[in-house]
Amino acid sequence: MTPRTQIIRADRDQRFRHQENPFEGMMSRFDDAARRLGLDPGLYSILRHPEKQLTVSVPITRDNGQIEVFTGYRVIYNSARGPGKGGIRFHPDVTLDEVTALAAWMAWKCAVVNIPFGGAKGGVICDPLSMSPGELERLTRRYTSGIMGLLGPDSDVPAPDVNTNERVMAWIMDTYSMHVRHTVTAVVTGKPVVMGGSLGRREATGRGCMITTRSALARLGIPLKGARVAVQGFGNVGSITAMLMQQQGMKVIAVSDHTGGVANPDGVDITSLMAHVVKNKGIAGFKGGDAIDKNEPLTVDCDVLVPAALENVITDENADRIRAKVICEGANGPTAAAADEILAGKGVFVIPDILANAGGVTVSYFEWVQDRGGYFWDEDTVNQRLERIMERAFAEVAAMADKHQVSMRTASYMLSIDRVAEVHRLRGLYA
Ligand code: NAD
Repeated sequence: MTPRTQIIRADRDQRFRHQENPFEGMMSRFDDAARRLGLDPGLYSILRHPEKQLTVSVPITRDNGQIEVFTGYRVIYNSARGPGKGGIRFHPDVTLDEVTALAAWMAWKCAVVNIPFGGAKGGVICDPLSMSPGELERLTRRYTSGIMGLLGPDSDVPAPDVNTNERVMAWIMDTYSMHVRHTVTAVVTGKPVVMGGSLGRREATGRGCMITTRSALARLGIPLKGARVAVQGFGNVGSITAMLMQQQGMKVIAVSDHTGGVANPDGVDITSLMAHVVKNKGIAGFKGGDAIDKNEPLTVDCDVLVPAALENVITDENADRIRAKVICEGANGPTAAAADEILAGKGVFVIPDILANAGGVTVSYFEWVQDRGGYFWDEDTVNQRLERIMERAFAEVAAMADKHQVSMRTASYMLSIDRVAEVHRLRGLYA
């Protein structure tokens, strides 16, 4: 294990000691929503079981000439609404249970924004940070060949996840295309733009966070201009969300990453901070405000809190210290289920992850549509269509919340479970 992997695992273990597994948290919310919907027990059983789970051995030749065998998984949780959709992660802690739960999460997320995909996820147990580019390529290609039976633009469409990126998607697309003897760009999303990726994909998750937050502020009657924002995490999601919120006239007063944080009551200049992070590999040392602890944005006095780093950062231990009026969950699972009630009691309006960060999978859907049509859209078109889908999804979840007098989180699960269940109802059972 590399030192960086050790740090990541220690950090994660520490967070997990005090809290439930985030995926169990997700399934407990699923159960609550299913109960409120009065879901038919047969349909409940169908939705509680993964459709397909594949385990593959992935033998590769390491650079030292030795053969090593890795284990990989691909799970299609549900394909009633369309092909499986979900990322592939390379990580030492990957388990079949985790991949299955993440696949279920994708099924609900795609249904919330009403895009025609089911839910899937994949993973390989490995330490990618200790592997050479050649070893990673061999691992990716052999894993892809192992899961070939599931993959395809009409059956299962992977995307990047933890420790996989555009480069890995290009290898998957190439391996699949070599097997079927012609180029199939639509078999993965999150590809480089030159080979069928979509403009606007990189910014899509942050853009979705900004759009749903804007809708939340309008609903609550909080003026957008001057609204004070705190952001934890300054990677893809956190930095783009901060930048787009600033462009809307909001004021980012506190922001942090794994190296530290910065606070400025007059607003942190996000463009300068981005340049600083590129140069220094982190926020620490940035001079445009006061240095703060990496966890401070969570409890700072603000209008909007965007947790955009890790899961389980808002827990029953710190929820009563949260002072934000709105939480926009950029990360997956940043709020432990045990904290939901505390936040509700304080009147905090939570935009749940399966809605707030669904902008990424929505533009992945656009990428798949563009690849299949062979006709590519300009960035404005991508952004306008994303805006329409995110605004509509927010309004539909809010209407469900009003109708059933439940939180936005419960409403988002109710909406998505109902949509998946309805398709099962209409399709009936085959043989
Ligand atoms: P990323 O790796 O680009 O960024 C993660 C950021 O979190 C980094 O700035 C890192 O420094 C920071 N961080 C790590 N540990 C921290 C700590 N202890 N305190 C404060 N900051 C810390 O990842 P990303 O793509 O931005 O993803 C962030 C979250 O959003 C993840 O939960 C991911 O699953 C979720 N998400 C991402 C996308 C996407 O399109 N990228 C889509 C949906 C959900």
